[in-house]
Amino acid sequence: MALVTQLSVRQRDYIIPTLIFYKCPKCKKRLGLQDDYHSIGEPFLICPNCNVVNIISKNRTEWDLKSPAQQFLFKAKVVFFSLFVGGGFGVFITEGLKRIVQFNLSYFISFPIGFFIGYLIFNGDLKGDIKESRERISNPRYIKFLTEIGLIKNTISSDSKSDNRDQ
Ligand SMILES: [Zn+2]
Repeated sequence: MALVTQLSVRQRDYIIPTLIFYKCPKCKKRLGLQDDYHSIGEPFLICPNCNVVNIISKNRTEWDLKSPAQQFLFKAKVVFFSLFVGGGFGVFITEGLKRIVQFNLSYFISFPIGFFIGYLIFNGDLKGDIKESRERISNPRYIKFLTEIGLIKNTISSDSKSDNRDQ
């Protein structure tokens, strides 16, 4: 059975705060990078060099393995970005129209439209990520693997007992 290790937040190397580089703790090979502290995806990185399964679930995990609070944060982030990026773009359009064609488009129109368009885009992204995550997690072999490495508790009862994890 594969050796399983935990890559905690402190063990990562990062260049800029939102970009995380992982290194295999056993052979020091670079394993991959993640572009956010909390993202949706496979909660582990398997070292291609020495086969160690490195668990990164504190930083990246599947949607349905996240807590309700973490899921709420994702949705709050969508609203936040829609307000600042989408709404901000609306304000930018109003300013542009004023300067270029002397047309006065109210912020009360451009801001909500920008917010709405931003929301459609960012929420669409999140929905796409969730859909992909649920496709992965609908595979029984994937569920079995997550159970074996201890990320899902007690869902597979039959043959998981025979594999004992060496640590
Ligand atoms: Zn390695």
